[in-house]
Amino acid sequence: IPVIKFHQVHKAYKTEGRMIPALQPCDLEIPAGQIYGLIGHSGAGKSTLLRLINRLEEPSGGRIEVAGQEVTSLQAEGLRAFRRQVGMIFQHFNLLSSKTVAENVAMPLKLAGQMSSSAIADKVASLIKRVGLEEHANKYPAQLSGGQKQRVGIARALSTDPKILLCDEATSALDPQTTGQVLQLLAEINRDLGLTLVLITHEMDVIRRICDQVAVLDAGFIVEQGPVAEVFLHP
Ligand code: ADP
Ligand code: ADP
Repeated sequence: IPVIKFHQVHKAYKTEGRMIPALQPCDLEIPAGQIYGLIGHSGAGKSTLLRLINRLEEPSGGRIEVAGQEVTSLQAEGLRAFRRQVGMIFQHFNLLSSKTVAENVAMPLKLAGQMSSSAIADKVASLIKRVGLEEHANKYPAQLSGGQKQRVGIARALSTDPKILLCDEATSALDPQTTGQVLQLLAEINRDLGLTLVLITHEMDVIRRICDQVAVLDAGFIVEQGPVAEVFLHP
């Protein structure tokens, strides 16, 4: 069953008074529990598509359903609850530099305001363990390597027990060896927690290594979608 469904979704940005299309009307179904890749050149519309999933962008038209909810009709309160079900990680990690690893990971839980401090501390400790940063819980981001920073980003994104994890060029700032380790962690999280991953990349290798299915974007169009082995079949 699909956990994310797009029906004729499109998006144009207003730039200097003109509407410039970024994503052409598209249909998309992302099955629950999969690792789904979005690949294409810079400017193809990958970020726009990803950010429509958690409504960081408003669609210009069409219907978006995520985890059984009509995303486009959510109001402020509903949107906040919905966003806790959709974690996100970023190319440049987006950590708070004045907060420790543990404080960064705790942030979404504090903001949600539904758990006691001691429950948050327990949860944060187990998340930090899951991403292998036990030795670094009290360090600041500036004291960490790129791979370690992304592990903090992953732990923070998992803190609210999301059903979906959106990854925006999550390994693009990392060297090849670190990329491999972070991809392995993401694959483990997909397997152990049953989380659906949607990830943007411009690297074929990332698609081949961990994705089940892929959509290829080009100038705002989804030009191909399907299982990786079918889309990138080499004769
Ligand atoms: P970079 O950003 O490193 O210059 P590109 O954006 O040119 O890379 O392409 C990244 C990957 O996406 C390439 O491996 C390419 O094969 C694939 N790709 C991009 N657009 C298409 C397309 N329209 N059809 C098939 N594959 C595509
Ligand atoms: P990708 O992630 O594949 O690089 P994007 O989704 O970022 O592609 O961009 C698709 C198109 O939309 C590009 O032409 C880009 O310049 C444009 N675009 C993206 N974000 C904005 C924005 N906030 N305002 C105006 N144009 C935008």
